[in-house]
Amino acid sequence: MNNIIDKFPQGAAWMGGNYMDISEAKIPVLDWGFLRSDATYDVVHVWNNRFFQLDEHISRFFASTEKLRMPCSLNRKELKKILAGCVRRANFNNSYVEMIQTRGMSPTFDRDPRKSQPRFLAFAIPFGWILDPKKFDTGIDLAISKIKRISPESVDPRVKNYHWLDLVNGMFEAYDRGHYTAVLVDEKNNVLEGPGFNIFSLDENGLKTPKIGVLEGITRQTAIRLASELDIPVQEKSIGSEEFINSDEAFATSTAGGIIPITKINGKKINNGKIGKITSLLKNLYWEKHTDPQWSQSVDELI
Ligand SMILES: *Cc1c(COP(=O)(O)O)cnc(C)c1O
Repeated sequence: MNNIIDKFPQGAAWMGGNYMDISEAKIPVLDWGFLRSDATYDVVHVWNNRFFQLDEHISRFFASTEKLRMPCSLNRKELKKILAGCVRRANFNNSYVEMIQTRGMSPTFDRDPRKSQPRFLAFAIPFGWILDPKKFDTGIDLAISKIKRISPESVDPRVKNYHWLDLVNGMFEAYDRGHYTAVLVDEKNNVLEGPGFNIFSLDENGLKTPKIGVLEGITRQTAIRLASELDIPVQEKSIGSEEFINSDEAFATSTAGGIIPITKINGKKINNGKIGKITSLLKNLYWEKHTDPQWSQSVDELI
């Protein structure tokens, strides 16, 4: 009868005051989050039973819900408890933990967004990687897409959102051209960001990462802080496509995998196709911080 996917990864969710198995977590089709991508979300990860940069993710999530004029009704402490509860119920040591707020719906299906009752939900699923860690030495073979990222004047990219059709198109374009994934560009062909990751380029002046037209990734911010610990200068400014292809080293940053080497751009090898020295240093420091209480928080402390 109904053969829609009924297999789920292991996981737990929280909705409407209750925890449930991930397979039970559902939103009504009339929720504007589903019909219009009218939603915001954030993703934080747990590594060896510790949340990484949890307060930073929650602050960004609260700011996003405010900007979309649907402030989250939970406070920071309540939210942390719910996220930790999902991780514990799913019994994960490492996990990908997502919080979402949708516009919700109005009982009369009113088109006025002010009439809707926002909906909050959260879930924990197994930790996911943009690039399989076994492939870190080979790194990402990246395509610079022909597709322009949605203009920041139309949709604020600093609000983490589900307007992903440009990014998904970019992924298909990359697969068609034989690459692993893609980075999208602005109207001047400056490189911006890819599906769920920011980018960095290294040259003789240090690191560079785009400032405008991208989500201010928490891992991007982490990489900037780690670079300053290592006395590597970082500039937040536009990177042209040609400039990016000519990087000495390049890497992507994402909650889904941390600092991820890029070793090929549009077919040209970066750093002879090997993970770069600075990229390695930053990557190692990134994982070291996961046990540091200044950067991470135990799941059990939050329950
Ligand atoms: C989530 C995301 C990123 C990476 O942000 P992190 O906070 O580092 O995970 C970058 N770009 C887009 C479009 C994203 O959705």
